Amino acid sequence: MLKVWVPKEVAAGETRVAATPETVKRLVKEGLEVAVESGAGDQAYLGDERFKEAGARIGAPAEWSQADLILKVAPLMSNPKLGKDEAAAMKPGAVAISFFSPHKNVPMVKALLAGKVTSLAMELVPRITRAQKMDALSSQASIAGYKAVLMAAGRLPRYFPMLMTAAGTIPSAKVVIMGAGVAGLQAIATAKRLGAVVWVSDVRPAVKEQVESLGGKFIDLPMQESGEGQGGYAKEMSKEFLEKQQAIIAEHVASADAVITTAQIPGKPAPRLVTAATVQKMRPGSVIVDLAAEQGGNCELTEPGREVVKHRVLIMGQLNLPASMPLDASTLYARNVLELVLHVAKGGKLSIDLEDEITKGTLLTHDGKVIHAPTAALVGGS
Ligand code: NAD
Repeated sequence: MLKVWVPKEVAAGETRVAATPETVKRLVKEGLEVAVESGAGDQAYLGDERFKEAGARIGAPAEWSQADLILKVAPLMSNPKLGKDEAAAMKPGAVAISFFSPHKNVPMVKALLAGKVTSLAMELVPRITRAQKMDALSSQASIAGYKAVLMAAGRLPRYFPMLMTAAGTIPSAKVVIMGAGVAGLQAIATAKRLGAVVWVSDVRPAVKEQVESLGGKFIDLPMQESGEGQGGYAKEMSKEFLEKQQAIIAEHVASADAVITTAQIPGKPAPRLVTAATVQKMRPGSVIVDLAAEQGGNCELTEPGREVVKHRVLIMGQLNLPASMPLDASTLYARNVLELVLHVAKGGKLSIDLEDEITKGTLLTHDGKVIHAPTAALVGGS
């Protein structure tokens, strides 16, 4: 019987868990044996009892070396309970499903190779219709977009909605959102629900209609070059274009109460859209939430992982916002993981089919080789 292990996350600030009682129940029904580390769901308000009721066994860290399939959230790392790297604790041929951020974790990739671990990276799941249920980037980005707006609203010294009161009228807040991908679209919807006037910038012309259907106003840019890259993502724009964009955006940002930035280009540093000079022009008390902080930030003054006040503007560069909403983040992530498990473990047996588009696209390492080409180039060259 296929043994599944759901460990407690050890990364700082990681509150999510890769399985929930709901997904455990389904795995057990499919004939898999599931062990969950004691306390794995505590920070997501999912206690051991709930996992037991769902059919899991509560296990200890020794399970790392016995499991066929390990379900995680954060990349594998050095685990004090094991006294070594999690990848090194796994048995050869076992499968790990997790986010891996391979470009930032080359030593971990090498440990996966050395241990002949098969790794399926949630961030590599192809964004095709057939794999939508496994799309953890989307489920988690949507949480980040929602939370970013709430954080801005919570810290703004003003209302978001327009209010007509006996003491007079308060105008709606103006929110500028940069990047209308999954996080940006959720941010637009959330800011609109709170009553703000929302302006949006993106370089993919296709998103204009989506922005407008959510009630946002699209900031037109002089698009002499298309911003549409491969697979529905944006491509890196020229320096000249970015300078023009910064100037057009600067006018909107200067009159904004809150700015939510989500602009990203796969595999590249985040584009710099809000310069220090633009922040200086903003009204005192305004708030910037920079969701691209992990990739260096869309705002020149963002400090990743920190909140700073510059020119009397609060700039929030908090990382891993989905972890600030651990119950729903875990619920959705665990469902994404479950779908991938059901895809590779048919009839209670693991089958890694290198011909299958989803499996092949998601594989990071398999059988002592790096399958993901950009990571192979990094590992080979390091
Ligand atoms: P992302 O996180 O890579 O980027 C966020 C946004 O930033 C994108 O909209 C991008 O165009 C924008 N951006 C990049 N450079 C910019 C700049 N200079 N100025 C302003 N904006 C800039 O994107 P994402 O949220 O992962 O989504 C990317 C695309 O993938 C979207 O079109 C989304 O609808 C699509 N998608 C498809 C599926 C599917 O078919 N299964 C699933 C999820 C997402």
